[in-house]
Amino acid sequence: MYDTDVLVVGAGPSGLTLAASLVSRGIATIVVDAQAAGSNTSRAAVVNARTLEVLEDLDVARRLVKEGIQAPRFTIRDGSRTLIPVDFSVLPSAYPYSLMVPQSTTERLLLDRLTELGGSVIRPKTLTTIDQDPDGVTAVFDDGEAIRARYAVGADGIRSTVREHAGIGFQGGVYDESFTLADVRLAGDAPVDEVILFWAKAGLTVVAPLPGGIHRIVAPVSEAPEEPTAAFVQQLLDERGLGEGRMIVTDVVWGSRFRIHHRVADTYRAGRLLLAGDAAHVHSPAGGQGMNLGIQDAVALADALVAVLAGAPDAVLDDYSAVRRPIALGVVKMTDRLTRLATLPRAGRPIRNIAIGLAGRLPAVRLGLARQLSGLVYR
Ligand SMILES: Cc1cc2nc3c(=O)[nH]c(=O)nc-3n(C[C@H](O)[C@H](O)[C@H](O)COP(=O)(O)OP(=O)(O)OC[C@H]3O[C@@H](n4cnc5c(N)ncnc54)[C@H](O)[C@@H]3O)c2cc1C
Repeated sequence: MYDTDVLVVGAGPSGLTLAASLVSRGIATIVVDAQAAGSNTSRAAVVNARTLEVLEDLDVARRLVKEGIQAPRFTIRDGSRTLIPVDFSVLPSAYPYSLMVPQSTTERLLLDRLTELGGSVIRPKTLTTIDQDPDGVTAVFDDGEAIRARYAVGADGIRSTVREHAGIGFQGGVYDESFTLADVRLAGDAPVDEVILFWAKAGLTVVAPLPGGIHRIVAPVSEAPEEPTAAFVQQLLDERGLGEGRMIVTDVVWGSRFRIHHRVADTYRAGRLLLAGDAAHVHSPAGGQGMNLGIQDAVALADALVAVLAGAPDAVLDDYSAVRRPIALGVVKMTDRLTRLATLPRAGRPIRNIAIGLAGRLPAVRLGLARQLSGLVYR
Protein backbone atom coordinates (compact mmCIF):
# COMPACT_ATOMS: atom_id res chain seq x y z
CA MET A 1 0.00 0.00 0.00
CA TYR A 2 1.30 3.41 -0.94
CA ASP A 3 0.21 6.77 0.49
CA THR A 4 1.38 8.49 -2.69
CA ASP A 5 3.37 7.94 -5.87
CA VAL A 6 5.96 10.63 -5.19
CA LEU A 7 6.99 12.26 -1.93
CA VAL A 8 8.70 15.63 -2.46
CA VAL A 9 10.75 16.78 0.53
CA GLY A 10 11.20 20.57 0.45
CA ALA A 11 8.99 23.33 -0.95
CA GLY A 12 11.62 25.75 -2.24
CA PRO A 13 11.62 26.62 -5.95
CA SER A 14 12.84 23.13 -6.95
CA GLY A 15 10.29 21.17 -4.89
CA LEU A 16 7.39 23.45 -5.85
CA THR A 17 8.22 23.19 -9.56
CA LEU A 18 8.51 19.41 -9.34
CA ALA A 19 5.28 19.04 -7.38
CA ALA A 20 3.29 21.32 -9.71
CA SER A 21 4.66 19.49 -12.78
CA LEU A 22 3.73 16.09 -11.33
CA VAL A 23 0.28 17.13 -10.12
CA SER A 24 -0.47 18.77 -13.51
CA ARG A 25 0.06 15.34 -15.05
CA GLY A 26 -2.12 13.45 -12.63
CA ILE A 27 0.63 11.94 -10.47
CA ALA A 28 -0.29 11.50 -6.78
CA THR A 29 2.22 13.74 -4.96
CA ILE A 30 2.78 14.74 -1.34
CA VAL A 31 4.96 17.79 -0.61
CA VAL A 32 6.30 18.54 2.86
CA ASP A 33 8.43 21.36 4.23
CA ALA A 34 10.10 21.83 7.59
CA GLN A 35 9.29 25.54 7.76
CA ALA A 36 5.93 26.73 9.08
CA ALA A 37 5.63 29.23 6.21
CA GLY A 38 7.38 29.91 2.92
CA SER A 39 10.39 32.22 3.16
CA ASN A 40 9.65 35.82 2.19
CA THR A 41 13.21 36.99 1.51
CA SER A 42 14.43 37.91 -1.95
CA ARG A 43 17.58 35.65 -2.29
CA ALA A 44 17.93 34.49 -5.95
CA ALA A 45 16.94 37.48 -8.05
CA VAL A 46 17.57 36.30 -11.62
CA VAL A 47 15.26 34.05 -13.62
CA ASN A 48 16.93 33.25 -16.92
CA ALA A 49 15.47 32.61 -20.38
CA ARG A 50 15.78 28.82 -20.22
CA THR A 51 13.92 28.69 -16.90
CA LEU A 52 11.08 30.76 -18.37
CA GLU A 53 10.95 28.41 -21.36
CA VAL A 54 10.68 25.29 -19.17
CA LEU A 55 8.00 26.95 -17.00
CA GLU A 56 5.75 27.66 -20.00
CA ASP A 57 3.89 24.34 -19.87
CA LEU A 58 3.06 24.97 -16.21
CA ASP A 59 1.70 28.41 -17.13
CA VAL A 60 4.09 30.06 -14.67
CA ALA A 61 6.41 31.84 -17.15
CA ARG A 62 3.70 34.31 -18.16
CA ARG A 63 2.94 35.14 -14.53
CA LEU A 64 6.61 35.64 -13.67
CA VAL A 65 7.15 37.96 -16.62
CA LYS A 66 4.24 40.11 -15.38
CA GLU A 67 5.93 40.60 -11.99
CA GLY A 68 9.58 40.99 -12.98
CA ILE A 69 11.83 43.57 -14.60
CA GLN A 70 13.33 42.70 -17.98
CA ALA A 71 17.08 43.31 -18.13
CA PRO A 72 18.24 42.68 -21.72
CA ARG A 73 21.84 43.62 -20.94
CA PHE A 74 24.54 42.42 -18.60
CA THR A 75 27.78 44.34 -18.63
CA ILE A 76 31.11 43.96 -16.93
CA ARG A 77 32.64 47.38 -16.31
CA ASP A 78 35.84 48.82 -14.97
CA GLY A 79 34.77 52.22 -13.63
CA SER A 80 32.90 53.87 -16.51
CA ARG A 81 34.63 51.67 -19.13
CA THR A 82 32.63 48.71 -20.46
CA LEU A 83 34.83 45.59 -20.62
CA ILE A 84 32.23 43.07 -21.80
CA PRO A 85 28.73 43.97 -22.97
CA VAL A 86 26.51 40.88 -22.99
CA ASP A 87 23.37 41.43 -25.07
CA PHE A 88 20.55 38.95 -24.41
CA SER A 89 18.26 40.69 -26.93
CA VAL A 90 19.96 38.85 -29.82
CA LEU A 91 19.12 35.42 -28.39
CA PRO A 92 16.61 33.21 -30.21
CA SER A 93 14.14 32.99 -27.32
CA ALA A 94 10.73 34.42 -26.45
CA TYR A 95 12.54 35.76 -23.35
CA PRO A 96 15.61 37.65 -24.61
CA TYR A 97 16.53 39.07 -21.19
CA SER A 98 17.27 38.23 -17.56
CA LEU A 99 14.07 38.53 -15.58
CA MET A 100 14.77 40.28 -12.30
CA VAL A 101 12.33 39.09 -9.65
CA PRO A 102 12.80 38.21 -5.97
CA GLN A 103 12.80 34.50 -5.07
CA SER A 104 9.87 35.07 -2.69
CA THR A 105 7.75 36.10 -5.70
CA THR A 106 8.92 33.11 -7.77
CA GLU A 107 8.02 30.78 -4.90
CA ARG A 108 4.63 32.45 -4.41
CA LEU A 109 3.72 32.04 -8.09
CA LEU A 110 4.83 28.38 -8.10
CA LEU A 111 2.82 27.71 -4.93
CA ASP A 112 -0.24 29.48 -6.41
CA ARG A 113 0.00 27.24 -9.45
CA LEU A 114 0.41 24.09 -7.35
CA THR A 115 -2.67 25.09 -5.33
CA GLU A 116 -4.70 25.84 -8.48
CA LEU A 117 -3.86 22.37 -9.74
CA GLY A 118 -5.21 20.87 -6.51
CA GLY A 119 -1.89 20.33 -4.70
CA SER A 120 -0.71 21.71 -1.37
CA VAL A 121 2.32 21.77 0.94
CA ILE A 122 2.12 20.06 4.33
CA ARG A 123 4.05 22.23 6.81
CA PRO A 124 5.72 22.37 9.22
CA LYS A 125 6.75 18.74 8.73
CA THR A 126 10.37 17.67 8.97
CA LEU A 127 11.72 14.49 7.46
CA THR A 128 13.87 12.68 10.02
CA THR A 129 14.68 9.35 8.32
CA ILE A 130 14.00 7.72 4.99
CA ASP A 131 14.58 4.09 3.99
CA GLN A 132 13.98 2.21 0.80
CA ASP A 133 13.28 -1.38 -0.24
CA PRO A 134 12.76 -2.87 -3.70
CA ASP A 135 9.11 -1.71 -3.81
CA GLY A 136 9.16 1.76 -2.35
CA VAL A 137 10.36 4.23 0.28
CA THR A 138 9.27 4.83 3.86
CA ALA A 139 9.74 8.33 5.22
CA VAL A 140 9.41 9.14 8.92
CA PHE A 141 8.73 12.66 10.17
CA ASP A 142 9.32 14.63 13.38
CA ASP A 143 5.66 14.18 14.36
CA GLY A 144 6.09 10.39 14.24
CA GLU A 145 4.05 9.93 11.06
CA ALA A 146 5.35 7.59 8.33
CA ILE A 147 4.60 8.04 4.63
CA ARG A 148 5.02 5.25 2.10
CA ALA A 149 5.73 6.30 -1.51
CA ARG A 150 6.93 4.72 -4.72
CA TYR A 151 9.67 7.37 -5.07
CA ALA A 152 10.97 10.25 -2.94
CA VAL A 153 12.77 13.37 -4.08
CA GLY A 154 15.12 15.38 -1.90
CA ALA A 155 14.48 18.99 -2.88
CA ASP A 156 15.52 19.81 0.67
CA GLY A 157 18.40 22.17 0.04
CA ILE A 158 22.11 22.20 0.84
CA ARG A 159 21.81 20.15 4.06
CA SER A 160 19.58 17.54 2.42
CA THR A 161 18.36 14.80 4.76
CA VAL A 162 17.35 12.68 1.77
CA ARG A 163 20.89 12.92 0.33
CA GLU A 164 22.38 11.97 3.66
CA HIS A 165 20.08 8.93 4.14
CA ALA A 166 20.66 7.87 0.54
CA GLY A 167 24.39 7.80 1.36
CA ILE A 168 25.21 10.10 -1.57
CA GLY A 169 28.45 12.08 -1.22
CA PHE A 170 28.55 15.87 -1.71
CA GLN A 171 32.11 16.69 -2.70
CA GLY A 172 33.55 20.18 -2.89
CA GLY A 173 34.49 23.00 -0.56
CA VAL A 174 33.83 26.54 0.55
CA TYR A 175 35.41 29.84 -0.59
CA ASP A 176 37.34 31.95 1.91
CA GLU A 177 35.64 35.25 1.09
CA SER A 178 32.23 36.11 2.45
CA PHE A 179 29.70 38.05 0.40
CA THR A 180 27.44 40.90 1.35
CA LEU A 181 24.01 41.00 -0.22
CA ALA A 182 21.74 44.01 0.16
CA ASP A 183 18.46 45.03 -1.47
CA VAL A 184 18.50 48.82 -1.24
CA ARG A 185 16.81 51.96 -2.41
CA LEU A 186 19.24 54.10 -4.37
CA ALA A 187 19.18 57.73 -5.42
CA GLY A 188 21.28 58.83 -8.39
CA ASP A 189 22.64 56.92 -11.31
CA ALA A 190 21.33 53.36 -10.84
CA PRO A 191 20.64 50.98 -13.75
CA VAL A 192 16.96 50.35 -14.56
CA ASP A 193 17.16 47.57 -17.17
CA GLU A 194 20.69 46.28 -16.90
CA VAL A 195 22.72 44.09 -14.54
CA ILE A 196 26.17 45.61 -14.02
CA LEU A 197 29.21 43.91 -12.61
CA PHE A 198 31.79 46.52 -11.66
CA TRP A 199 35.36 45.25 -11.47
CA ALA A 200 37.10 48.00 -9.51
CA LYS A 201 40.60 47.63 -8.08
CA ALA A 202 39.04 47.70 -4.62
CA GLY A 203 36.83 44.71 -5.45
CA LEU A 204 33.83 43.51 -7.38
CA THR A 205 30.28 44.82 -7.00
CA VAL A 206 27.10 43.72 -8.73
CA VAL A 207 24.27 46.23 -9.08
CA ALA A 208 20.97 44.98 -10.47
CA PRO A 209 17.42 46.35 -10.61
CA LEU A 210 14.56 44.60 -8.83
CA PRO A 211 10.83 45.43 -8.96
CA GLY A 212 9.50 48.22 -6.73
CA GLY A 213 12.40 50.64 -7.26
CA ILE A 214 14.80 48.37 -5.37
CA HIS A 215 18.37 47.50 -6.34
CA ARG A 216 20.32 44.39 -5.45
CA ILE A 217 23.94 44.96 -4.42
CA VAL A 218 26.25 41.94 -4.07
CA ALA A 219 29.93 42.22 -3.19
CA PRO A 220 32.68 39.97 -1.86
CA VAL A 221 34.15 41.44 1.34
CA SER A 222 36.64 40.01 3.79
CA GLU A 223 34.32 40.32 6.81
CA ALA A 224 30.68 40.85 5.87
CA PRO A 225 28.37 42.10 8.67
CA GLU A 226 25.42 39.85 9.51
CA GLU A 227 23.00 42.54 8.40
CA PRO A 228 24.47 45.31 6.25
CA THR A 229 23.42 48.87 7.16
CA ALA A 230 22.90 51.71 4.68
CA ALA A 231 26.17 53.25 5.90
CA PHE A 232 28.06 50.00 5.29
CA VAL A 233 26.69 49.60 1.75
CA GLN A 234 27.38 53.28 0.98
CA GLN A 235 30.98 52.92 2.17
CA LEU A 236 31.36 49.83 -0.01
CA LEU A 237 30.04 51.69 -3.08
CA ASP A 238 32.28 54.67 -2.31
CA GLU A 239 35.40 52.51 -1.97
CA ARG A 240 34.63 50.81 -5.26
CA GLY A 241 34.11 54.05 -7.16
CA LEU A 242 30.32 53.83 -7.37
CA GLY A 243 29.29 56.23 -4.62
CA GLU A 244 30.52 59.81 -4.36
CA GLY A 245 27.34 61.26 -5.81
CA ARG A 246 26.74 58.46 -8.34
CA MET A 247 24.71 56.10 -6.19
CA ILE A 248 23.35 57.11 -2.80
CA VAL A 249 21.90 54.41 -0.56
CA THR A 250 18.78 55.78 1.10
CA ASP A 251 17.42 52.57 2.66
CA VAL A 252 18.28 48.87 3.10
CA VAL A 253 15.14 46.79 2.49
CA TRP A 254 16.74 43.39 3.13
CA GLY A 255 20.30 42.29 3.66
CA SER A 256 22.27 39.19 4.37
CA ARG A 257 25.73 37.72 4.23
CA PHE A 258 26.78 34.37 2.92
CA ARG A 259 29.70 32.05 2.44
CA ILE A 260 29.75 30.16 -0.82
CA HIS A 261 30.03 26.41 -1.13
CA HIS A 262 30.83 24.64 -4.36
CA ARG A 263 29.66 21.04 -4.23
CA VAL A 264 27.95 18.51 -6.50
CA ALA A 265 26.29 15.26 -5.37
CA ASP A 266 28.07 12.10 -6.52
CA THR A 267 24.84 10.99 -8.20
CA TYR A 268 21.28 12.36 -8.35
CA ARG A 269 19.79 8.88 -7.92
CA ALA A 270 20.16 6.09 -5.40
CA GLY A 271 17.43 3.56 -6.18
CA ARG A 272 14.07 5.17 -5.42
CA LEU A 273 15.61 8.28 -3.86
CA LEU A 274 16.34 11.23 -6.16
CA LEU A 275 17.82 14.68 -5.72
CA ALA A 276 17.06 18.06 -7.30
CA GLY A 277 18.16 21.67 -6.76
CA ASP A 278 20.50 22.74 -3.96
CA ALA A 279 20.32 19.21 -2.51
CA ALA A 280 22.23 18.13 -5.63
CA HIS A 281 24.47 21.14 -6.33
CA VAL A 282 25.53 24.42 -4.78
CA HIS A 283 27.89 27.01 -6.22
CA SER A 284 28.73 30.67 -6.37
CA PRO A 285 25.83 33.01 -7.24
CA ALA A 286 28.14 34.62 -9.84
CA GLY A 287 26.06 34.36 -13.00
CA GLY A 288 22.82 33.80 -11.06
CA GLN A 289 22.48 30.12 -11.96
CA GLY A 290 21.59 28.36 -8.67
CA MET A 291 17.83 28.55 -8.53
CA ASN A 292 17.59 28.33 -12.32
CA LEU A 293 19.38 24.98 -12.38
CA GLY A 294 17.14 23.69 -9.59
CA ILE A 295 13.94 24.60 -11.46
CA GLN A 296 15.31 23.03 -14.64
CA ASP A 297 16.27 19.85 -12.70
CA ALA A 298 12.73 19.69 -11.38
CA VAL A 299 11.12 19.87 -14.83
CA ALA A 300 13.47 17.18 -16.17
CA LEU A 301 12.85 14.96 -13.14
CA ALA A 302 9.06 15.34 -13.47
CA ASP A 303 9.32 14.08 -17.07
CA ALA A 304 11.42 11.12 -15.96
CA LEU A 305 9.11 10.19 -13.06
CA VAL A 306 5.97 10.49 -15.21
CA ALA A 307 7.58 8.16 -17.76
CA VAL A 308 8.67 5.57 -15.17
CA LEU A 309 5.29 5.62 -13.41
CA ALA A 310 3.68 5.00 -16.80
CA GLY A 311 5.83 1.90 -17.27
CA ALA A 312 9.07 3.13 -18.85
CA PRO A 313 12.22 1.34 -17.65
CA ASP A 314 13.88 2.55 -14.46
CA ALA A 315 16.94 3.54 -16.47
CA VAL A 316 15.10 6.76 -17.38
CA LEU A 317 15.89 7.92 -13.83
CA ASP A 318 19.58 7.16 -14.37
CA ASP A 319 19.39 9.27 -17.53
CA TYR A 320 18.04 12.16 -15.43
CA SER A 321 21.15 11.98 -13.25
CA ALA A 322 23.46 11.40 -16.23
CA VAL A 323 22.12 14.46 -18.06
CA ARG A 324 21.66 16.94 -15.20
CA ARG A 325 24.81 16.25 -13.15
CA PRO A 326 27.34 17.28 -15.85
CA ILE A 327 25.39 20.53 -16.27
CA ALA A 328 25.89 21.30 -12.57
CA LEU A 329 29.58 20.39 -12.83
CA GLY A 330 29.88 22.81 -15.78
CA VAL A 331 28.15 25.60 -13.83
CA VAL A 332 30.39 25.00 -10.80
CA LYS A 333 33.42 25.30 -13.10
CA MET A 334 32.17 28.48 -14.79
CA THR A 335 31.09 30.18 -11.56
CA ASP A 336 34.34 29.08 -9.89
CA ARG A 337 36.31 30.84 -12.62
CA LEU A 338 34.16 33.97 -12.28
CA THR A 339 34.42 33.91 -8.48
CA ARG A 340 38.19 33.46 -8.51
CA LEU A 341 38.57 36.28 -11.04
CA ALA A 342 36.27 38.45 -8.95
CA THR A 343 38.15 37.82 -5.72
CA LEU A 344 41.65 38.03 -7.22
CA PRO A 345 44.23 39.73 -4.97
CA ARG A 346 44.46 43.46 -5.64
CA ALA A 347 47.81 43.28 -7.50
CA GLY A 348 46.40 41.03 -10.22
CA ARG A 349 43.28 43.10 -10.91
CA PRO A 350 44.62 45.63 -13.50
CA ILE A 351 45.96 42.79 -15.70
CA ARG A 352 42.74 40.85 -15.27
CA ASN A 353 40.73 43.86 -16.42
CA ILE A 354 42.92 44.33 -19.51
CA ALA A 355 42.57 40.65 -20.43
CA ILE A 356 38.81 40.70 -19.91
CA GLY A 357 38.51 43.92 -21.93
CA LEU A 358 40.33 42.28 -24.85
CA ALA A 359 38.21 39.12 -24.65
CA GLY A 360 35.08 41.29 -24.55
CA ARG A 361 35.88 42.65 -28.01
CA LEU A 362 35.32 39.22 -29.52
CA PRO A 363 31.67 38.76 -30.62
CA ALA A 364 31.97 34.98 -30.06
CA VAL A 365 32.93 35.54 -26.40
CA ARG A 366 29.99 37.89 -25.86
CA LEU A 367 27.52 35.51 -27.53
CA GLY A 368 28.96 32.53 -25.63
CA LEU A 369 28.44 34.34 -22.34
CA ALA A 370 24.88 35.32 -23.31
CA ARG A 371 24.04 31.70 -24.14
CA GLN A 372 25.61 30.44 -20.94
CA LEU A 373 24.04 32.99 -18.58
CA SER A 374 20.60 32.67 -20.22
CA GLY A 375 20.79 28.89 -19.84
CA LEU A 376 19.94 28.48 -23.56
CA VAL A 377 23.14 26.51 -23.95
CA TYR A 378 21.37 23.71 -21.99
CA ARG A 379 18.38 23.40 -24.32
C1 LIG B 1 21.03 34.71 1.43
C2 LIG B 1 20.91 33.95 0.14
C3 LIG B 1 21.11 34.59 -1.04
C4 LIG B 1 21.05 33.91 -2.24
N1 LIG B 1 21.25 34.59 -3.40
C5 LIG B 1 21.18 33.95 -4.56
C6 LIG B 1 21.36 34.62 -5.78
O1 LIG B 1 21.56 35.84 -5.81
N2 LIG B 1 21.30 33.91 -6.94
C7 LIG B 1 21.05 32.54 -6.94
O2 LIG B 1 20.99 31.93 -8.01
N3 LIG B 1 20.86 31.89 -5.79
C8 LIG B 1 20.93 32.55 -4.61
N4 LIG B 1 20.73 31.86 -3.46
C9 LIG B 1 20.50 30.41 -3.55
C10 LIG B 1 19.06 30.09 -3.85
O3 LIG B 1 18.28 30.66 -2.85
C11 LIG B 1 18.94 28.58 -3.92
O4 LIG B 1 19.72 28.11 -5.03
C12 LIG B 1 17.51 28.10 -4.10
O5 LIG B 1 16.71 28.49 -3.01
C13 LIG B 1 17.50 26.58 -4.21
O6 LIG B 1 16.19 26.10 -4.23
P1 LIG B 1 15.83 24.66 -3.71
O7 LIG B 1 14.35 24.56 -3.87
O8 LIG B 1 16.68 23.66 -4.39
O9 LIG B 1 16.26 24.62 -2.18
P2 LIG B 1 15.82 25.57 -0.97
O10 LIG B 1 15.29 26.87 -1.46
O11 LIG B 1 16.95 25.56 -0.01
O12 LIG B 1 14.58 24.80 -0.33
C14 LIG B 1 14.73 23.65 0.45
C15 LIG B 1 13.48 23.49 1.31
O13 LIG B 1 13.57 22.23 1.97
C16 LIG B 1 13.10 22.37 3.28
N5 LIG B 1 13.72 21.31 4.09
C17 LIG B 1 15.03 21.15 4.40
N6 LIG B 1 15.23 20.05 5.13
C18 LIG B 1 14.00 19.49 5.30
C19 LIG B 1 13.54 18.32 5.99
N7 LIG B 1 14.38 17.50 6.61
N8 LIG B 1 12.22 18.04 5.98
C20 LIG B 1 11.34 18.86 5.32
N9 LIG B 1 11.74 19.97 4.65
C21 LIG B 1 13.04 20.28 4.64
C22 LIG B 1 13.53 23.76 3.71
O14 LIG B 1 12.69 24.25 4.74
C23 LIG B 1 13.37 24.55 2.40
O15 LIG B 1 12.12 25.19 2.30
C24 LIG B 1 20.78 32.52 -2.25
C25 LIG B 1 20.56 31.86 -1.05
C26 LIG B 1 20.62 32.56 0.15
C27 LIG B 1 20.37 31.82 1.44
